[in-house]
Order: sequence, then structure tokens, then C-alpha cells
Amino acid sequence: MSLFRLISLATLCASTITVSAQTAPIALSVDLTDAPRKLIHATEIMPVQPGSMTLVYPEWIPGEHGPTGPIVNQAGFIITTPSGDPIKWERDLVDMYSYHITVPAGVTELHIKMDFIAAAGAQFTAGGSTSANLALLSWNTVLVYPAKTSAADVMVTPSILVPTGWRWGTALTQVTGGSDVATLQEVRNGIAYPHPFFKTVSLEQLIDSPVLAGRWFREVELAPEITPKHYLDMAGDGPENIALSQEHIDEFSKLIRETGALYKSRHYGSYHFLVTLSDQVAHFGLEHHQSSDDRVPEKTFTDEGSFAEEGDLLPHEFTHSWNGKYRRPAGLATPNYQEPMKGDLLWVYEGLTNYLGDVLAARCGIWSASTFRDRLATIEADYNDARPGRTWRDLQDTASAAQILYAAGGPYDNWRRNVDYYSEGDLLWMEIDATIRQKTDGKKSLNDFIAAFHGLGGNTPPKVVPYTFEDVVAGLTAVVPNDWTTFLRKRLDSNELHAPELPGLNAISGYKLIYTDKPNYWSTLEESDGLDADYSLGFSVGSGGGIGDVILGSIADKAGLAPGFQILAVNGRGFTPGLLRAAIKDTAGLTSSPIELIVSNTGYFKTITLNYRGGERYPQLERVADSPDRLDDIIAPLVK
Ligand SMILES: [Zn+2]
Repeated sequence: MSLFRLISLATLCASTITVSAQTAPIALSVDLTDAPRKLIHATEIMPVQPGSMTLVYPEWIPGEHGPTGPIVNQAGFIITTPSGDPIKWERDLVDMYSYHITVPAGVTELHIKMDFIAAAGAQFTAGGSTSANLALLSWNTVLVYPAKTSAADVMVTPSILVPTGWRWGTALTQVTGGSDVATLQEVRNGIAYPHPFFKTVSLEQLIDSPVLAGRWFREVELAPEITPKHYLDMAGDGPENIALSQEHIDEFSKLIRETGALYKSRHYGSYHFLVTLSDQVAHFGLEHHQSSDDRVPEKTFTDEGSFAEEGDLLPHEFTHSWNGKYRRPAGLATPNYQEPMKGDLLWVYEGLTNYLGDVLAARCGIWSASTFRDRLATIEADYNDARPGRTWRDLQDTASAAQILYAAGGPYDNWRRNVDYYSEGDLLWMEIDATIRQKTDGKKSLNDFIAAFHGLGGNTPPKVVPYTFEDVVAGLTAVVPNDWTTFLRKRLDSNELHAPELPGLNAISGYKLIYTDKPNYWSTLEESDGLDADYSLGFSVGSGGGIGDVILGSIADKAGLAPGFQILAVNGRGFTPGLLRAAIKDTAGLTSSPIELIVSNTGYFKTITLNYRGGERYPQLERVADSPDRLDDIIAPLVK
């Protein structure tokens, strides 16, 4: 995903891991047959020693960059001995994710039951992803594990039970028979669920390997000539949602080929895109080493506008397998799910991923060159002219404060800012890319940095190689000598009103940001039923007249408008988005008069006058004559 000071991983491990993992694996059985009713049942059989111990529920979820483990939706958490005698747990009074218990003498196995209430609406994996015909299982929601252990050392044998007729996709390896199953069934002592069983994995790999299951399920192999293997697993609310065209399947196959040429390595045994196509679930993407959990509206794969709007999602989450999973900021490379994360390098983890996701979407043909440029124009305009919050919160702080900013948004978001390191990261990394190309006369590019930094060690199994700010600078310097520390800090620590990346981009990318009176293609995709007048009047409004946000310092702000006000009339006539748009357009005329709005603020009415003369304004990129077209160079496919 898509949502801090550096401590070495070795130090973290040494200071916090005091209990060695148990020898036999935990058996974890998850029953998804009630998932359509928003309940997921789990049973854990855990080998233990008699005496006091602490069990913990995962709190810091990888890729969510914060303490988002949904413990509030845990229910029916009951621990017994194998013979059914209850073992009373006591919650820690400070750490809500810790349960203290005493294992009675002679007891060497706990039977733990819990339910997860898969209620929709919450953010990220905390939000239930279930409907009548599909379910996404995030294992972290249905387990506890011994405190102060390393997730790489705790072994788990997982299994699932799904409703009759459902199929599933996952990066876990299914056990199709043989002694593993027989042994596990014995261990389960009669409460085992039927097939499928999966091979025993570390807790780290388990939580990294969600399962997508559904009645309307389709698996397509991508770029079949390539090993390791890649699969597009789709589950929809209806059969029509998974009817992805061959043309788009071919584009995703190109994505696999382009990543091979870019990253010069793969760090997984096989890769599964787990795509949920549903209007009943929260929408986001969450990266893993060997899969991604991609939750999108139900029409995304079958409606061309929606396909374009979500076009960077799969390239973005796939990129994370290299940038975020394999190479990870030291502050995010924690040994278990209770150790707090530090997000100070998220402008690399997410910012570079955002940039590469966009570039790959264009290289594999999901986006045309003009769609890529229109999106870039919109980002440039937003961060140059509509995010005054940079004057108090620099880009660095949007990363350092990530764990409190993922839930942000809404009124005055332009002044607070939120996780701006995603989209402003696009500008930062594009400027770095264009700078390398300029300094080397086009002989080198960011591709060379990527091949060395993310291709380190060639092909490997899933593992984490942490890095620091200094490692990033060293990697860039190895491509082309430059004072990269000053370059980066100047942009990361800037309190300028306008985007510090834009002067460079306007000078060397071959394009500059301009405004015209025609909306660009990307902004028409993003616009709701209302009107986005961010770059003219400085506010956006919904179809019913409710004001979304007002940009501080804009004409709307100075005239006294605020988020939440209701626009009732435009120039004396009942509000419609079309009427407001026409009024803005009229201001471009020589004899135009100010725009007059009648607004309601919590039931009190007043008239607001907007003294504006500029007409409609929408961002575009304009080609700079007689300069290299570096955007075209950047999005040119690497595979001919
Ligand atoms: Zn991301």
C-alpha cells in the first residue's frame, strides 16, 4: 500500500526476541462457510509448556504501516485444554493486544477458538471482505501467537473450509494427500476440518499469503513462458464481473515481462494477483511477497473507464514484491507484529512504487501515453497549486506520521495533507529519473538504479533485505555522481507553497504544466457527479451542492466558503453542477460579473461573492519545443 528513525534489524531482534519458538507447528483451521454472514471461525491447536505465558493478536500489519490489527472485531475467544477444560485469559491493561494465561501442569497443547466479525466499512484488512459469493481471508485477523517470538520462527500448518462449490487462489501450497495430511489429522484430535490443507509455513509467510475464495472464481495464467509462474485469480459478485477480455489479459502478461526487464530478478516461488471485484467490500490494494490483495469495484475489469482509473493498481502492488517486501526500509522490517514500525522512508517504499506502478501501466499498454501524461498533469497541478499544507508539513512528515495519516482526508485535507508521499513521490522519483537521463545524455536512467537495488542477489526466495537513507543515496550515486543527499533533503524538507519538484520537471522532462479550459481525460475519470473547480475558484462540490473541500488561500477561501457548506443558488438560480460550470466559464468574457452564490451553513443562509475572472482552468502538459521527450523515453517498453 498502499499507508521513521533507523534502528538496525539485528538490534531489534536482539532486544525483543526472548522466547524461542515451539518445535511442533501450530495447526490453524479457518472455516469460511459463514463468511457470507460476516462471521469467520478459527481454531488453533498450539503446542505449549506448562506455566505462565502471553499470547498476542497481530497489531502492526505489514503494508498497512500502522497499528491496524482489527482486534475490536475479535469475538468468541476461548482457550481450553485438549480435554475441554477452560483456561481463563486476562488482557494486559496497557497492551490491548496481549492475553496473559497460565497453562496448567501436564498440559502441552492449547485449543483456541475465535471468530472474526467481518464487518464491512473498516479500513484495510480490518474491513471484512465478504459477500454472498466471495471471501478474502487475511490470516492475521484470526490468530494469536506466543509473545516475543519471531514471525519467521513460529511455524503454522493452515487449512480452510469453504462453502460448497467455491474455489480459491493463494500463494500457499496445497497438500494434495500423503503423510502430511494423515499426521495433521491425528494432531487435530478429531476437530479437524476437511481439505484443503496447506503446507506448513512460517507465521511470517502465512500472514503474507491471504486466500481469495468465491463461487464466481476464475484463474488465468499470465505470460506462461516465464518461470516462476504468475496467476491472475479473480472472484466477483457475479459471473459478469470476472469476464476480463483477452486484450486486458495480454496487457497483464506484458506487465510480467516488463517487470523481468526492469527488476532483473524475481523474489518469489510463484505470484498470485488476488483480485476481488465487488461493490460490497472496501477498495484498496495490499502487497505481499508472492501475491497481492487487490479489492476493486465490481465493474473494474469490464468497464473501460474503470479499468483505466484502476490501471496502476496491479502494477503498483506487484512492484511492492521488489520495493517494499524484498527491499524494505529498516524501520519497517520488524521481527513480528507487535514491534512498532517507523515510516520515515515510505517516500521510497510507497513513493517509488507509485511512480513505477504508473510507468509500468504505460509500458504494458494499460494506459496510453496521453493517459499517462494527463494523470501526471493532474498530480503536478494538485501538488503545485492545491496543497498549501506543505508550508507547515513537509513531505518527510507525511511519511514519518503515516500511522496517523492513513485515516485522514475530508475537510481541509489540502491544509492538513495526508499520505502525500504516494503522489508527490511520483513527482520526486520522476524528477530523479529525468535528472539521471539528463546527466548521462540518455545513456542511463532510474532503470539502472532499480536493476541494482532491487535485483540485488538475482533471483531469491521471499526474504527481506533492509535499507537506510544512506543506501538509497549510495545506489543513486553508483548510477551517476551527484549530491543526491542535498537533492533529496531539499525536496523532502521543503516548506514551499509550490511543489519543489516542478521547476526541475518543467526544465528537463520535455513538458511543462499549463492550464486550459478543457478538462483532461484523467480528471474526467476522477470527477464525480459534481464539479471540481480546484484550479479556478479553489473548491470542489458534489452533485447536490455540498462543498467537499476548500483550498486555503484560494478565491473561495478568501470569500468565506468552507467545506460542508451547501450551495443553494448560483447567480440567483437553483444550484446544479452544470449551472456553476457555466458561470465559471462566463467569467472568461470581457464583460463578466462576479459569481454570486447563496449558501447554507448549518441552516443559516448568506450570499457569497466570488470575484473571479479566469474562466475554467484544467491542468495539461504542454510539450516544450526542441527538448528531449523524456516522458516518452520513460514509458517506452523495455521488452521489444
Ligand atoms: Zn503501495
